[in-house]
Amino acid sequence: MRRTYTQPPRARRLPVTLLGATGLVGQRVIALLEGHPWLQLARVVASERRAGARYGEVVRWHVETPPPTHALDLRLEPPAPSGDLRGQIVISALPADEARELEPRYAQAGALVFSNASAHRMEPDVPLIVPEINPDHLAALTTQRERRGWPGAIITNPNCSTIGLTLALAPLQRFGLERVIVTTFQAASGAGYPGVAALDLIDNVIPYIGGEEEKIETETRKILGDWEGDAFAPLAMRISATCARVPVRDGHLEAVSVAFAQRPEPEEIIAAWREFRAEPQRLGLPSAPQPAIIYREERDRPQPIADRLAGDGMAVTIGRLRPCDALDYKFLALSHNTIRGAAGAALLNAELAVATGLAE
Ligand code: NAP
Repeated sequence: MRRTYTQPPRARRLPVTLLGATGLVGQRVIALLEGHPWLQLARVVASERRAGARYGEVVRWHVETPPPTHALDLRLEPPAPSGDLRGQIVISALPADEARELEPRYAQAGALVFSNASAHRMEPDVPLIVPEINPDHLAALTTQRERRGWPGAIITNPNCSTIGLTLALAPLQRFGLERVIVTTFQAASGAGYPGVAALDLIDNVIPYIGGEEEKIETETRKILGDWEGDAFAPLAMRISATCARVPVRDGHLEAVSVAFAQRPEPEEIIAAWREFRAEPQRLGLPSAPQPAIIYREERDRPQPIADRLAGDGMAVTIGRLRPCDALDYKFLALSHNTIRGAAGAALLNAELAVATGLAE
């Protein structure tokens, strides 16, 4: 998918260093940076064994549109920060273990690291940002820099299922979220490349994704909670997640049941979703979907094939709101796991940092 950005280009597009550039998320970042009005791909980094190779020689490209030619000619750099990176934008699409070790080194060198990895998301001074929901959590960076003594920063985006769930829940916080039960149907691309073996996934559903349920439960409470000046206060809400891998290429579908402190009417819930406008939309961030949430009336939507590219892959599509006999209401939500759930989310965080003067 190629994006057409409508924002006027900045006089100087800011250079981006991409860690994990050859992976599924890294490739998405490269595709989304093509024609980006504020940011441009400058450096690509993969594992040590690729260092020095031309990107085009080693990448096994999986995005539906061809790779940008200028990216193909870049030389892959080794995974180690070099020189003073003060104020530089680094987008990380590293596996968690590598991110745990490498991202702090880039922050130490001064970079603003926008991470897709889970490694640092739940640390007490690391903001976990969905710009439509908690842009104010960026205030935690002051504490992060004081505690860590580094000039840079680590800013994370959530797990690919958490992001769709939190966007669906955020407009409903006004009714008092008390309990949430979520079951996910997650696409194969969510496991990276090559991911789950074809013979395990074709004609099958795998009712286990390691660590995923805990991530959804803890990250959702952190994002919907508050930054209290020196610590995060997670939202006091009970949440239970069950995750399954299904033979879908892209797009995570989630079945959600919710109980509220004050039970609203169905029309109030739909209006809350449809009227939801937030900071990225107000600031006109290039990757911000307009609108961020789409509610569909058809009885058989959302579906991965039909809805994953809504809002250029950045919108969440919701449908089938109905009463729930166990909690109050239930509905389905769908979002693109490598765009809204990863690459696009990291870019939106970087754009928020640019628009608010954190990166320039
Ligand atoms: P992936 O396809 O497995 O790609 C991993 C990337 O990391 C590759 O570029 C790989 O380079 C690089 N890498 C591996 N070991 C390295 C090392 N020791 N040093 C430096 N680079 C190394 O994974 P992915 O699906 O793109 O996911 C990337 C991150 O985003 C993960 O943390 C994942 O959990 C997270 N995430 C993924 C999704 C999704 O839907 N896929 C959604 C949200 C978040 P080589 O080619 O050289 O091995």
